[in-house]
Amino acid sequence: MDSREDAVVSVVHHPAGINAGCARCRTIISSGTFAIGVQVGNHNYLVGHNPPKQCCGEEKKVPLLYDDEVLAAFGAQGIMDTLGRDGSTTNLRLYEVAQFISTAVH
Ligand SMILES: [Zn+2]
Repeated sequence: MDSREDAVVSVVHHPAGINAGCARCRTIISSGTFAIGVQVGNHNYLVGHNPPKQCCGEEKKVPLLYDDEVLAAFGAQGIMDTLGRDGSTTNLRLYEVAQFISTAVH
């Protein structure tokens, strides 16, 4: 995939909150107001659970979600560490989204 030079990691804030669940049984798998965004070129991704969450015998595309910005920033730092170590996004589970409102992590 793309090299880390192109990847920008940020904490994404969704004030309304995100509920990610199973479309079949309607179980909420993950919820929160903060996610971790990775921008690669013109593409925006949310970082998903790794290993992925399972429900109803299927792998669910559920982003990592946090209610606490500090925890989200800590998670984002971990993603940056992974990118720095691997030099690529290969070991991340990224789900493409149209766009997100992001707050840079410093
Ligand atoms: Zn289910």
